[in-house]
Amino acid sequence: MTPGSARTDIEDTVAHTARLAESALADAEGADFRTRWKGLTARGVWDAPAPDSGAGRLGPVTRSVATVEGIGRAGTAAGLCYAMASQRFGIQFPLLSVLGEDGPRRLGDTGSGDVLLCHALTEESGGSDPLSMSTRAELQQDGGYLLTGTKSFVTAAPVADVALVFARTAAERSPFALSAFLVDLHSPGVEQSTPFPKTALTDVPMGSITFHGVRLAPDRMVGEEGAGLGLLTLTTAWERALLLSYALGPMRRVLDRTVEWSATRQHFGRRMGASHIVAARVADMALALYRSRELVYRMAARLDAGERPRQLASDAALTKISVAEDFLLFSQQAARLGGVRSFIEDSGLTADLISPMAASTYAGPNDLLRITVARELGLPVEN
Ligand SMILES: Cc1cc2nc3c(=O)[nH]c(=O)nc-3n(C[C@H](O)[C@H](O)[C@H](O)COP(=O)(O)OP(=O)(O)OC[C@H]3O[C@@H](n4cnc5c(N)ncnc54)[C@H](O)[C@@H]3O)c2cc1C
Repeated sequence: MTPGSARTDIEDTVAHTARLAESALADAEGADFRTRWKGLTARGVWDAPAPDSGAGRLGPVTRSVATVEGIGRAGTAAGLCYAMASQRFGIQFPLLSVLGEDGPRRLGDTGSGDVLLCHALTEESGGSDPLSMSTRAELQQDGGYLLTGTKSFVTAAPVADVALVFARTAAERSPFALSAFLVDLHSPGVEQSTPFPKTALTDVPMGSITFHGVRLAPDRMVGEEGAGLGLLTLTTAWERALLLSYALGPMRRVLDRTVEWSATRQHFGRRMGASHIVAARVADMALALYRSRELVYRMAARLDAGERPRQLASDAALTKISVAEDFLLFSQQAARLGGVRSFIEDSGLTADLISPMAASTYAGPNDLLRITVARELGLPVEN
């Protein structure tokens, strides 16, 4: 349970970030993804909480979660909010923890938005099973590597500047067959696709990156050769713990508008919210948001307290499954209560059911996470 003073600091940070983000978004209205991203970072939304917001007393992880929630609370498109959370929690935090002092230099100027990162793991042939990947990095005489292969379905791939790429450095299917590299996507031999037309999180472009024998200097490797799967365990633990923080702001907004709609819409000679079934659905939405928020901030507090991400991997998986499924149930309740307006663009009650559904797939499909949880409880079950 988060202590009362920390709760106040979190609420202040969310509100402060939301105010900054609202004006940044208004200035960048109608602009492309990159411009809106830079608009948010330039306004200090991302890295500079106000001194009186209480954010200074929060741990860095909790502060970042509150910042993401505030960006969402401002009405930032879900895809942009997701991409920011994905970069921060799925790449920056875990990499900075392994790269140490050299980390900021190796990641580049992410604070200004000049450098956009992406996490390139999935391939056409398989996402859930990393050891099936075919992208390979071959050791060269100078100690560098030659990278060949294609990563697909990667968030921000068409616009990113640097990718964390997982590649095979050994042929066999072993836990030490993979290595990780930070690849400058402006290098010769890198081909970034145009955006895939997708139906979820439509505001962030997704695509593929092909490496046509890209030369990587020795210092492009993250950690040791063969440590890729270990790093992946780290990045996915962070992602599963915190990525869904991006949903908290949009959920709050949808709850508020659903309450207002249910309280004012007239049906059968009374207000719609006088119906017990309507009230119960609204209460279920509040319950889903409450549970999700508690779980995500609890993960952040544990990371701030110094718990090692790999040790909380199992709880991170449970958090990810729970929040993803609550987000979907929440969105379904809102869609029911909005009636036809849920399916009309710009009605003010438009429901997005596809993006919450996608949460059951990214950062580890929920079905596979369930298997991991059950295995750790002692069941004889393999993927
Ligand atoms: C919005 C979004 C953003 C993404 N961003 C990125 C990104 O930035 N970088 C990146 O590398 N990838 C990204 N991905 C890809 C994502 O990581 C993969 O989709 C995910 O790993 C699953 O791989 P797959 O889609 O190939 O599903 P598959 O591996 O084909 O699995 C499909 C489904 O089959 C079932 N299934 C498969 N095997 C089993 C099993 N053994 N037991 C039980 N059920 C099973 C599960 O229900 C699973 O969901 C993103 C995906 C989405 C939807």
